[in-house]
Parts: sequence; C-alpha cells; structure tokens
Amino acid sequence: MLLDTYGRVATDLRVSLTDRCNLRCTYCMPEEGLQWLAKPELLTDDEIVRLVRIAVTELGVTEVRFTGGEPLLRPGLTGIVARCAELEPRPRMSLTTNGIGLERTAAALRDAGLDRVNVSLDTLSAETFQRMTRRKRHADVLRGLAAAREAGLTPVKVNAVLMPGFNDQEAPDLLAWALEEDYELRFIEQMPLDAQHGWQRDGMITAGDILQSLRTRFTLTAEGEDERGSAPAERWLVDGGPQRVGVIASVTRPFCRACDRTRLTADGQVRTCLFATEESDLRGAMRAGAEDAEIADSWRKAMWGKKAGAGIDDPSFVQPQRPMSAIGG
Ligand code: SAM
Ligand code: SF4
Repeated sequence: MLLDTYGRVATDLRVSLTDRCNLRCTYCMPEEGLQWLAKPELLTDDEIVRLVRIAVTELGVTEVRFTGGEPLLRPGLTGIVARCAELEPRPRMSLTTNGIGLERTAAALRDAGLDRVNVSLDTLSAETFQRMTRRKRHADVLRGLAAAREAGLTPVKVNAVLMPGFNDQEAPDLLAWALEEDYELRFIEQMPLDAQHGWQRDGMITAGDILQSLRTRFTLTAEGEDERGSAPAERWLVDGGPQRVGVIASVTRPFCRACDRTRLTADGQVRTCLFATEESDLRGAMRAGAEDAEIADSWRKAMWGKKAGAGIDDPSFVQPQRPMSAIGG
C-alpha cells in the first residue's frame, strides 16, 4: 500500500489527463502565455491505464479521479475510463470537469464505467462567468450539469470558488440553486496555485466568510468527524437536511492529517500533495523499461516522503512551480 511516515494510507488517486483547458479561470490560469506540456511529454493512454492498474492492483488504490486541466479535452478519455473499469478490483471512478462538452459525453462516460462527476461552476450569472473564466460558456456548463444528472452520474457535485469583486455575494444564491437542482454544492477556498502567483492571503474569501454568508438565509448543522472520514470537505445539513453543503477550507482549516491522496500529473510525475515541491518521475522509469514491481516501488518510496501538511499558513511556505492546471486539481 501507499503508506507515509505519519501513518496515512493513500487510497485515492487523482490523475491529470492534460494541462490544457478551454477556460481561463482567473484563480487558475493567466489570460494567455501559459506554456503547455509538449505532446511527447504527456503520458499516452496506455501508460495512464498501466499506472492506474499498478495503483489499483499493487498499491491499494480504490478511488480514481480524472482531472486536469480540462479532462474532457483528452480525446481518449472514454477509452481510458472503460479500460480502468475492467480492472480487478474495479476502482470507483469520477471526473472533475468544467462541464463544457459533458452534454455530449455524459452518457458515453457512464456506459464506459464512470461513477460520478464534480463540475466546477462559480456563478449563476453568465456575465460574471465570462469575467471569471474569460470565456462565454456559461450555458454549456449548465447543460453539461443537467446531462450528468440525467445520465445518473450522481451525486453530481458542484465546486465553487468565491473571488472578491466577482462572485463573493453569491454563496446563498448558489446554494438555493443547487438545492433546487439536486446538486451537492461545495465551496473551495482559493489556494495559492494560480500560474500567475497572484494569490494573497488577505484577499481571499475564507470558510468563515462563506458560512456567515450562507447563514443569512439557511440553517446549517455541522456533520460530525465520523461522517467526514478522509474527505477534505466539512459538510453541513441545510435546513435540517437531508441535503448538504460542503466547504473545503484548504487554507484556513486544512485537513492534512487524514489525507488519503496520491497524485499523478499528465506527464507522469507522482506528487504527494497539491503543494508538494518535489515529484517522482514514473514516466521516465516506464519508458526506460521498468517492470511493474519497480514502478510500484518508486511510487511507494515517493509517498513515504509525504510531508505532514501543506503549510500554507507557515511563513516558510513556497508556492509550487506547477500551477493547479498542470498538477491536476
Ligand atoms: N478543469 C476542471 C475543473 O475546473 O473542474 C478540472 C481541473 S480544476 C484545476 C479542478 C478544481 O480546482 C476546480 O474545481 C477549480 O475550481 C479548482 N481550482 C483551480 N484553481 C484553484 C485555486 N487557485 N484555488 C482553489 N481551487 C482552485
Ligand atoms: Fe480550466 Fe479548471 Fe483551471 Fe478553470 S479551474 S482554468 S476550468 S483547469
């Protein structure tokens, strides 16, 4: 298994399928000028399936989340999902996507074996969406979300990041909408992972701000630690339940001590954490002809070195070189 020196076991694998994207969210990417990984650097579909197989059959991974960049831009996505669904034991599989194109692909992804999706949507306003993502695609995302729900890729979770001066007043409206549409809404605190290195602690909207804003319209009852398990989101029952809202307070209330994640970048590097500053190169080993057992061993060694926490609030914190879009959020 993938054990670290703090006794944590990683069973949840995030695989980035591409660093490219069709949006330019302000908290993630600059408007232009970001260098993409060159095609030969990217793992091929076969290499991805091989690494997922090693993770599932040799290293105890039970959950696989495909992400990016925008994973729906990866031409082989459905095939990758279908091949991973044939693994024994079969991992649970989900996708984190901006939803553009999901309208066309949701049913095929479900048929291939995808279990559920997380769709990112920060605002109900098409105009605010355009300011935040620098693209006019709001309606596509709403259609993608509906298609995911209809295809049974449920529970459909919606990820929202609040940004001052853009959508910081929208938390209660977003929650009212999500309850109505039967999506499970989770707010994510903005993290220092933007390619432009523009994040500022003082400027961010905190979990505390979000909860205060939601409580102006809803009664929230905290779920206990038992229900939370290793999930990064703290969850609240809304108006007595059963529907819930989550907040991922990665900056102000990080949940590193129960972290069960391991990450694979689109160019085949293992990362122990979103904020890791070191990576282990599995692509190089694979292309040099390493056996499965050797690759599994390198992966175990990498995870053994996982740090206790992300340390964002530590004065010595250094933002990783790779932006979120290239790590896989
Ligand atoms: N393109 C897909 C999407 O947007 O869902 C998948 C990749 S994206 C990097 C994954 C998640 O990371 C999204 O929910 C996005 O909102 C979130 N994200 C990106 N940059 C972030 C940041 N600086 N802080 C917090 N969340 C961020
Ligand atoms: Fe693209 Fe997702 Fe980053 Fe937005 S958050 S720019 S959709 S990768």
